[in-house]
Amino acid sequence: MKGAFIIMKETSMKEIETILTGICKKEIEQCSYEELYAALLCVTEEESKKHIMPVKKRKLYYISAEFLIGKLLSNNLINLGLYDAVKACLEAHGKSMTALEEMDSEPSLGNGGLGRLAACFLDSLATLKLPGDGIGLRYHCGLFRQKFEQRSQSELPDFWLSGDKWVKKSEETYTVSLAGKNYTARLYRLAVTGYEGRTNYLNLFDLDTVDASVIKDGISFDKTDIAKNLTLFLYPDDSDEEGKLLRVYQQYFMVSAGAQMILSECEERGSNCHDLYDYAAIQINDTHPSMVIPELIRLLGEKGIDFEEAVEIVTKVCAYTNHTILAEALEKWPKHYLDTVVPQLIPIIEKLDKLVRERTGDTSAVIIDDAGIVHMAHMDIHFTHSTNGVAALHTEILKNSELNQFFKLYPDKFNNKTNGITFRRWLLKCNPRLTDWIESLIGAEFKKDASKLEELGSYAEDESVLKQLADIKHENKEVLARWLEHTQHISVNPDSVFMIQSKRLHEYKRQQLNLLYLIHQYFEIKTGHIPPAAVTAIFGAKAAPAYTTAKDIIHALLTLSKVIEEDSEVSKWIQIVFVENYNVTAAEKMIPACDLSEQISLASKEASGTGNMKFMLNGALTLGTLDGANVEIAEAVGNENIYIFGQSSNQVIRRYAHGDYLAGEWYEADANIRRAIDFLTSPVMINSGTKEKLARLKKELTEKDWFQTLPDFNAYIVRKNQAIADYALNPTEWARKALVNISKAGFFSSDRTIEEYNRDIWHLDE
Ligand SMILES: *Cc1c(COP(=O)(O)O)cnc(C)c1O
Repeated sequence: MKGAFIIMKETSMKEIETILTGICKKEIEQCSYEELYAALLCVTEEESKKHIMPVKKRKLYYISAEFLIGKLLSNNLINLGLYDAVKACLEAHGKSMTALEEMDSEPSLGNGGLGRLAACFLDSLATLKLPGDGIGLRYHCGLFRQKFEQRSQSELPDFWLSGDKWVKKSEETYTVSLAGKNYTARLYRLAVTGYEGRTNYLNLFDLDTVDASVIKDGISFDKTDIAKNLTLFLYPDDSDEEGKLLRVYQQYFMVSAGAQMILSECEERGSNCHDLYDYAAIQINDTHPSMVIPELIRLLGEKGIDFEEAVEIVTKVCAYTNHTILAEALEKWPKHYLDTVVPQLIPIIEKLDKLVRERTGDTSAVIIDDAGIVHMAHMDIHFTHSTNGVAALHTEILKNSELNQFFKLYPDKFNNKTNGITFRRWLLKCNPRLTDWIESLIGAEFKKDASKLEELGSYAEDESVLKQLADIKHENKEVLARWLEHTQHISVNPDSVFMIQSKRLHEYKRQQLNLLYLIHQYFEIKTGHIPPAAVTAIFGAKAAPAYTTAKDIIHALLTLSKVIEEDSEVSKWIQIVFVENYNVTAAEKMIPACDLSEQISLASKEASGTGNMKFMLNGALTLGTLDGANVEIAEAVGNENIYIFGQSSNQVIRRYAHGDYLAGEWYEADANIRRAIDFLTSPVMINSGTKEKLARLKKELTEKDWFQTLPDFNAYIVRKNQAIADYALNPTEWARKALVNISKAGFFSSDRTIEEYNRDIWHLDE
């Protein structure tokens, strides 16, 4: 078996050699990396075309403002079954695959979990051979590039498109009317390959007139000139009115062009639009694409379909995914914004609002409220056939509290689809050592059928296997150490415990709780309480440019990092590393090297999380609250294989309902809390940091602390120190827990999630 595999590899390696020398017209040794990169682009393009499959009838359109897809070269080669042969071929001729990977630029089309989920879904759709395309925007500079200057975040435009070779311009255009003026939306397409699957597309719309020269210093730009700025950035600063308006412009541009494309594709496949349901399923990823509902009704009207029927068609075709229970993230637009940007939708939205008012006497469920605010999520729930949450706990909270009035109206619309991740990128691509090792134990079937990972469970008592797993983790930590040295000139100790918290910077995710823990440990070491192991606390996070508290937390962590580094007594035991510009490329390096995965959001606030799943799959143990999908991870692995702490979601919800949480009381009553928070404005911190920012963070924590850091502080310390002690004192037991985590990760494959969406919501052709 093993022998046959090697021979196959060798033959296809020869094939690759012939193809590459054919394209480059010289020996591989003589080729530059630019030539090899270009040749491999040709190969993937040709190969992915072979997997285009006809769509019989119903196809999915996944509309999302974000697709955080990551670099594509290796991933496409893996999915097309070429990666091993290409790598072997290059290496046989003295060329490195890593050097080629570095030439690939990471598309900047997303900002966090929601966009990454969309990317995992596209991979799984193509892998499961389901017809399903993405629809989004071609942001020129995407999300900003993060840079640390004077221990603070600054933002630079990320000109990723200048190095991109994957997004292809098409000749297809659609006319979109914005504020009464017509603009031409051009379609760009990116091929999405599946693992031994089919090829689908990510459709991205753009304006030809967009002009990056309107960007001034950093990421500021003239927000009024739509023709030049419409698709420059993802989520342009919405802290002011012009920024908010620009978001409405972007959203309508995306959904109007998208809806026109959907209708024209369906008509091409034979739809008369009355039967649109037989040809299309549309998934609305969070509220950003909500205007697709009135826009489709408008377009169907233009085709002569009356309002009532159009509403029925659209409701049957569309489904909505809710991603958050944070009230500020459920989009609401003042009606006058829509009056300005999309006057053509106003009569339709008003009619929909009237329908709702006839259906229900509940004023909390209306679309346009008495203050003239348009509630996008409400429109989604009323006029789609499915509303899903993204983890079991999240869906229960939606049903029982946040969206309870809607659940009472439409109990059958509500359903749960626990998020997942694609194992191709988050195991095969990012952790080849672990992948090969798993294959040597249980065979290759887990690559297509993630539930097969369960078979690893039978090795839980095999000490030599556990030792191998620990060795793989150690090697991955060395790889991360080299990468940090190479990219950020930071050296870390691979023998320390790597505790990683990487995700968007947000108060609800509570990086500040981790910060306070590190200060606490600083004092413990200073007072002679030496920990059982040295730790490296690694962070990766971007803060929204206008989010002051998030930026203050970054500043405090960078400052503390410096303070500890300069204190030889403490630096033996603690090192803080903040990875600059966290993105998919960085995540792929960090996650395989993690020992302890920090998933410490305030219970009830994280809808699901997918970072938690990536870490688990790569053999990290989770230190987490019972929030989002952590709850399902804990159920899967058992309490003895996870470190859970903190208030329950019910306790938190009750505290909010009573409105009786006072941070100041906790601060006054607890000497540990006081010591840690007071340190923020201590002379050593102010000496290395900015007093104003540190004082502002202290004030935030003692006077507001909206996400209840302080009530969980002591429980967090206890649980985390227990984890560190377990790691240090019983490495075999730690490896056994890691093995159990990997073996139970199968449920969190996005293949499973997509199968559920298809079974319950989309019913696509196979
Ligand atoms: C997975 C991922 C996220 C989401 O992480 P959460 O911990 O679920 O918030 C954000 N950014 C990147 C780059 C990711 O890969």
